[in-house]
Amino acid sequence: MRKPVSPVVGQRCLLAVTLSLAAFGLLSSCAEAPTRGAPSAVAQAQPSQSFDQWRDGFRAQALAAGISAQTFDTAFDGIEPDDSVVTADRSQPEFTRPVWQYLDSAVSPARVRNGQDHLLQNDAALQRIEARYGVERQAVVAIWGMESNFGAQMGSKNVIRSLATLAYEGRRPDFGRDQLIAALQILQHGDVPASSMIGSWAGAMGQTQFIPTTYQRYAVDFDGDGRRDIWASSTDALASTANYLSASGWQRGQPWGFEVRLPPTFDYAQADMEIRKPLAEWQRLGVQPASGNLAVDPQTSASLLLPAGYRGPAFLVTDNFRAILKYNNSTSYALAVGLLADSLNGGGQLVGHWPVGDAQLSRTDRVELQQRLSERGFAAGSADGVIGANTRRALRDYQKTIGEPADGYPTADALQRLRAP
Ligand code: CA
Repeated sequence: MRKPVSPVVGQRCLLAVTLSLAAFGLLSSCAEAPTRGAPSAVAQAQPSQSFDQWRDGFRAQALAAGISAQTFDTAFDGIEPDDSVVTADRSQPEFTRPVWQYLDSAVSPARVRNGQDHLLQNDAALQRIEARYGVERQAVVAIWGMESNFGAQMGSKNVIRSLATLAYEGRRPDFGRDQLIAALQILQHGDVPASSMIGSWAGAMGQTQFIPTTYQRYAVDFDGDGRRDIWASSTDALASTANYLSASGWQRGQPWGFEVRLPPTFDYAQADMEIRKPLAEWQRLGVQPASGNLAVDPQTSASLLLPAGYRGPAFLVTDNFRAILKYNNSTSYALAVGLLADSLNGGGQLVGHWPVGDAQLSRTDRVELQQRLSERGFAAGSADGVIGANTRRALRDYQKTIGEPADGYPTADALQRLRAP
């Protein structure tokens, strides 16, 4: 789902991504405290008006925005707020899965086999999609698998009802209103009847889990029936995903990234998505492909990713990885898409080992880690339990002062040391 809510997840995914995954039971939570599902401690304002009052006021706004009275009244016929949407929107999970558990379910053997079957079944359409959008079929099918389990799990909520609930009493009323207007425009355009417009509680729709504004920008009619049907047409869904990746800068023929080995002594501060170097420069620093040789232009720009710190697998990731992040701004998600795409081709096996014995930090632990770093003069940003760039930088600075590898990866051990007087 991509939502514009916060730039975090890109257009279509903000909330939706995380959410949708959880809502669908696909991947219950992101390893990395993704933005979408990670609510902030915002005061929960109670609506000052009844739903009917809100709806009547919003109706005037929608009509002013060009929505016909008939479209609006048909879409809102019988619509009442959905308490489960409010509950989901306000949930603040205490525990998230570590990246290796997330990958185990996201790139399970069953999903790989399923994906390979879908590659074959959609071969003709995928050939045309590759030719038109320049995005490799494995990447497109991998996102399809991640978002909706290849169309099998699109969510089951009425999108108008979910968005109306968020606009009326959610934490992001502006998001709800903007998406609702876009959803009504889609209905008015005739792409889908209101009864078939289903998705996640956060308004991520169809097989692509596009939020309505992302749909408006990137959904395409590729099977030629005149409707952009990301619900019932796999061809439209696949082409829409490829169109979005293409618009996000996907380069055909470039890998999303690949696993690497680091030299015995290495400056782990280089592992930062904000640092980009040509592959040739990484090679000069001693970074080597973990297995085999890769036929990639040595001038290709890449960043070093250590999803579980210096003890876990390392990856060099390219601009295609960043294109996947526009779909859903979680490095765990993008890594899963990349590894699933590789797995569809028989690859995707890792050489490095995850630190599976590590105790996981709860949200409360992460907040404490941030508070203790800041107390010691390492500015970790707001203590919200989300490990972002500021927290990683602060943790690196702290790790340097105690002689630990400065990978910026939060561990129970680091928290323990910070608790010591
Ligand atoms: Ca169509």
